[in-house]
Amino acid sequence: MHSTKQLTKAVAERQADPHLVEIQRRFRCHVCGQPGSGPTVEVVVAGFQGVGWLDWTTPADLRRCEACGRWACAGHLIGQQCQDCTSRPIDGGGGAS
Ligand SMILES: [Zn+2]
Ligand SMILES: [Zn+2]
Repeated sequence: MHSTKQLTKAVAERQADPHLVEIQRRFRCHVCGQPGSGPTVEVVVAGFQGVGWLDWTTPADLRRCEACGRWACAGHLIGQQCQDCTSRPIDGGGGAS
């Protein structure tokens, strides 16, 4: 006697929002690799009513370093710049050797 066990993968696939997958693939901290957790919520006040929508081009918890333009998480961003750029000594140019 055979018993066929059918696994439903619908549960796992239900959570996989294609936008979310995309944002996590495109935007991640270049220091630790942490992906963006989701879209930014933009709220614009029009008249006396606030209108909110999701901005899928900007990850919610990552910011772009203003020096190198790469994405970094809150833990690897000091002020407006990433850890790499703030720890790098500012040098006018020229190799030292
Ligand atoms: Zn990080
Ligand atoms: Zn940087």
